[in-house]
Amino acid sequence: MTAPVAPGGTIGILGGGQLGRMLALAAARLGLKTHIFSDEADAPAFQVVETKTIARYDDAKALAAFAKTCDAITFEFENVPAATLGILAEHKPIFPNARTLATAQDRLDEKRFVASLGLKTAPFAAIDSARDAEAAIANTGTPAILKTRRLGYDGKGQAKVSSAADIANALRSFKDAPCILEGFVDFAYEASVVAARGRDGSFAAYDPPENYHADHILRRSTVPSRLTPRQCDDAKDIARRIADAFDYVGVLAVELFVAKDGTLLVNEIAPRVHNSGHWTIEACLVSQFEQHIRAVAGWPLGEPTRHSDAVMENLIGEEARDWQTLARDGGALHLYGKSEIRAGRKMGHVTRLKAKTEP
Ligand code: AMP
Repeated sequence: MTAPVAPGGTIGILGGGQLGRMLALAAARLGLKTHIFSDEADAPAFQVVETKTIARYDDAKALAAFAKTCDAITFEFENVPAATLGILAEHKPIFPNARTLATAQDRLDEKRFVASLGLKTAPFAAIDSARDAEAAIANTGTPAILKTRRLGYDGKGQAKVSSAADIANALRSFKDAPCILEGFVDFAYEASVVAARGRDGSFAAYDPPENYHADHILRRSTVPSRLTPRQCDDAKDIARRIADAFDYVGVLAVELFVAKDGTLLVNEIAPRVHNSGHWTIEACLVSQFEQHIRAVAGWPLGEPTRHSDAVMENLIGEEARDWQTLARDGGALHLYGKSEIRAGRKMGHVTRLKAKTEP
């Protein structure tokens, strides 16, 4: 195993969005430098780092030059092309590993992987063409959700379907991309578990928040959730089994549906820090961002215990214009420094704390 990255060393981060920005801020507190690589000249993370590379993710020369300045490399978005990781891996260690990323990039591989661990998911079936529709529906029932296997996020590349004809129509709108059909889960609510695994296999999970989405975008995360202590332990155990199976290093999030009978179903795995873990900045001794940097740098994991109850609300699109009221409001305000407000764009978040209601 490679030696830990000592203070003064550099963590390379692929991607320059708000997650990269908050990772860079957490690294700075530990005396670590960060070098951000993004293909966008006005990436929000660039504003908080000294060293940046603006280049395409397939620019082999720029990737090699970037890697040479780093001691370890990570990423803040999951659609990093496999070839990009391949180039970087020739130079420096990358955490989490390429196998995890490849699995998480494909909804079908991801569901198969989760099911292979004996964990529960919605019923699912592969759809390569409209010919597969009838057999898939027999598996999942209706209604169901058709999702493109790759490159979907925040509800993009998804359609609710009730018949083989609906599937054929939706496939056309997805330009015949390979898909997965999932049975529609009439869940009680959504939750997630954000957890970290260190290079030495150590594991630390945060309390699972309850998550409320609107228009497929996370609006709010609340801890404590409605999960019972037993369900919280089960959720953390799900994350541990997934992390161990991947020999994962870093922070990962597992999104869960909580069925009406209390069963926890895995919706998806995010191999990175996650929006539903932002409250850990204020409500825990060590945030998800610091935890990820610690893991990637080969440091011991920090204490994930929550000292307060917390509600994190995203500021989406125009909501960020109200920053003066929000700043007066008493919550912890985070603005991501995005140059342009767009509908549906995550512009910032606010976390509000209350005294802890549970032991
Ligand atoms: P995803 O991109 O797969 O995380 O889906 C985004 C959101 O769509 C989820 O957070 C759920 O609110 C909803 N959703 C996705 N899959 C299902 C499903 N199989 N049943 C019910 N709702 C779903």
